[in-house]
Amino acid sequence: MSVNVSMAAIPAAVTDFIRGSHKLLIDGKWIAPASGKTFFTHNPADGRKLADIAAADAQDVDLAVAAARRAFEDGPWSKMTPATRAKLIWRLADALEAKAEEFAFIETLDNGKPLNDAKVVDLPHSIEVLRYFAGWCTKLNGESISLSNPGTWHAYTMREPVGVVGSITPWNAPLMMAVSKIAPALAAGCTVVLKPAEQTPLTALKLGQLILDVGFPDGVVNILTGFGETAGAAITAHPGIDKVTFTGSTDVGRIIIKAAANDFKRVTLELGGKTPVIVFPDADIDRAIEGAARSIFSNAGQICNAGSRLYAHRDVFDRLVEGVSRRAGEFRVGPGLEASTQMGPVVSQEQLDRISGFIASGKSQGAEVRAGGGRIGTEGYFVEPTVLTGTRPDMDVMQHEIFGPVLCAMSYEEADLDRIAREANSTSYGLGAVLWTRDLSTAHKMARKLKAGTVRVNGGGLDPALPFGGFKQSGWGRELGREGVEAYTELKSVAMAL
Ligand code: ADP
Ligand code: MG
Repeated sequence: MSVNVSMAAIPAAVTDFIRGSHKLLIDGKWIAPASGKTFFTHNPADGRKLADIAAADAQDVDLAVAAARRAFEDGPWSKMTPATRAKLIWRLADALEAKAEEFAFIETLDNGKPLNDAKVVDLPHSIEVLRYFAGWCTKLNGESISLSNPGTWHAYTMREPVGVVGSITPWNAPLMMAVSKIAPALAAGCTVVLKPAEQTPLTALKLGQLILDVGFPDGVVNILTGFGETAGAAITAHPGIDKVTFTGSTDVGRIIIKAAANDFKRVTLELGGKTPVIVFPDADIDRAIEGAARSIFSNAGQICNAGSRLYAHRDVFDRLVEGVSRRAGEFRVGPGLEASTQMGPVVSQEQLDRISGFIASGKSQGAEVRAGGGRIGTEGYFVEPTVLTGTRPDMDVMQHEIFGPVLCAMSYEEADLDRIAREANSTSYGLGAVLWTRDLSTAHKMARKLKAGTVRVNGGGLDPALPFGGFKQSGWGRELGREGVEAYTELKSVAMAL
């Protein structure tokens, strides 16, 4: 490993963990991949090698699925009471809390995000997601149903775990994503084969250690590191997997649907977004400026519901663009380990190239760069917080998810809500929408008109109890909340003539 140690005091436990040999977690044991293949990950802050990682492929997936199947069908897991399952999940949350500092460092080294973000966002959210779903173990009930058929009947529904779940996660919030998939699956009584993103597998592996430490039965959670085209594809095609849950790009979501179609696997998909931020003239403009800036520059824009399209009323447009552009210039971009850093590097050379390509295409199609627009330095994958104006709906920067710190800002003329909603809805995505207004009527009317899974008014963030997901090509189903755990169940109806 070569990280810039002048930056911050990396705890020895973190260095030891990262340097250690990383294997696959299958059936409660760490084992080498059948092929013996490994790959390495990069530290996005300097582009250098970070860790050697095992590359799982189809043979390892077979073993992991078999272990998850045994744990689901015969093992202690299926016979465990919901209350005991809840205690185990809660214990995992406590173990994660106890090691939060180490996890935060590992996330920063692997993903690039500011250490402070990892500490105040990723870790607390992951811990609370575990606790929230621990509570659901004992509350997954069916109901008794009144029937109208002639005769005397007793009928009820019950919720059963869907079975073995294949979970495939992205690199933007690696631990949060892994936990958001594992926790509800376990709460419902499922077993899991998790494949973290190849760019950022380390916190999932570290979580695997805790899963063993707190005493989950063998095979309940299996963790396979490796690539999407090999390990990921083998999971989605495997006949022993009952459900696939995926967060990532819309393109891969489409591939997963096709793979899952063969045997009608249950599928939950959290895909891309192109979230509009709509500012009305009556809004608290200073807060709207700060909110709009954070919405697109947090996590270097690598958030599926980053506010990437700003629509501001013409009366407030100049103030907003100037404000957000000023904030773009102020955002301290640097290595995640540096205390003053507010925006880290993007995750990889591939992402850096992709974002640079979008900025270039925006310029060539007529957009004006009001802030940023370039790469910072030549070491690591740093991009300037960028604001584009003069963007039109047909431009690539307006239609595609850039997944970087690039905002397209536009003004609208009249406060005609239908017209604004039409523009806001004019992408193939429908994940989020953000409104800034002090007018309750405008807020509620707009909330109805927007085709988005989550509408935020004057702020508001992620919560384990609030369902999250998208309309249109932003995905299928919802994660978090009651819907998020019910998505890991099958509903069974039992009818009985008395
Ligand atoms: P990005 O291109 O931004 O890395 P992806 O959607 O490709 O986003 O990756 C998200 C997750 O999907 C990762 O864990 C990746 O390995 C996985 N993945 C990529 N391609 C496939 C595939 N064909 N089948 C299953 N999983 C895949
Ligand atoms: Mg990809």
